[in-house]
Amino acid sequence: MAALAPEQSLRPEARPGTVSAVRVTPALPVRALPSSARIAPTSEDLALHTAGVAPVIASAGTIRSPRPAARPPSVVQKAMAKRMARRRGSVCGDLAIQGKEIGGVPGPGACGISDAVAVTSVSGVALSQPAQIDCRTAKTLKRWINRAAKPAIGETGGGLARLQVAAHYSCRSRNSQPGAKLSEHAKGRAIDISGFVLNNGTSLSVLEDWAGRRGPVLHAIHRRACGIFGTVLGPNSDVHHRDHFHFDTARYRAGSYCR
Ligand SMILES: [Zn+2]
Repeated sequence: MAALAPEQSLRPEARPGTVSAVRVTPALPVRALPSSARIAPTSEDLALHTAGVAPVIASAGTIRSPRPAARPPSVVQKAMAKRMARRRGSVCGDLAIQGKEIGGVPGPGACGISDAVAVTSVSGVALSQPAQIDCRTAKTLKRWINRAAKPAIGETGGGLARLQVAAHYSCRSRNSQPGAKLSEHAKGRAIDISGFVLNNGTSLSVLEDWAGRRGPVLHAIHRRACGIFGTVLGPNSDVHHRDHFHFDTARYRAGSYCR
C-alpha cells in the first residue's frame, strides 16, 4: 500500500458546496451586453472604429486583439459620430434646428434674405417642406414648437410629428394683394402652417378642425404663439387666413400683433 505524499495528505478535500457555488456563477464575458444595448454601426462608426482602435500588430507579427480596451473608445466614438452627424445637419448654431445653409437670397426689389437657411426639422418635428427663413425666425419657430405646439398637443396621437408648411419665403405683397405692403414672407421672416400631423398619422387641419371638435387644441397652439412671434394670424383674422396660421418675426413697438 503506497503512502500519500505529505502535501497530498495535508490538503483538505474540496467541499462540494463550495465547488457548485463557484460553478453557478460563471464570470460574464466582457462583451456580453443585452441585445437592446447593441446598435448597428453605421459606416461612419466603422470608419472611426477602424481609425482609432484597429488591431495592433505586435512586433512578433501576431495580431493582438484590441477587445478588452476597445469598448470604451468605440462607445465614445459612436456618440461622437452621432453628434457630428447632427452638427453637420444643424443650422443657426442650434443642434435642434436641422436644415441647410443657403446664404444670401437676392430677391427682386426689396425682397430677399441676407442669410437664409432651409429648415427641415425643429426639435424633432419635421417640416413638410424645407422652409426658407432667416435664423431669427428659425429660432422663434423652435421656441413656439417647444412652448406652444408640443405642449398643446401633448401625448395626443403620440405627440407632434410634422408641421404642414403652407408657405415660407415668397417675394410678394401682404396677402398677395396688388399695391399692398411687402409681406414678411418676402424677407424670410414668416412661415405659414396649415396643419399638424401626429405620430399615429392623425392630422389636425386649420381649415377643417378650427371650428370643430378638435378646435380647442388649434386655438391653444394659435393663442400661445402670441408673444413668441411678432405677428400671429389665424382663421379669426380674415378670409385669407381661414386655412392657415401666419407667424412672422416683424418687430412692433407695441409688442405682438395677434388675431
Ligand atoms: Zn403668411
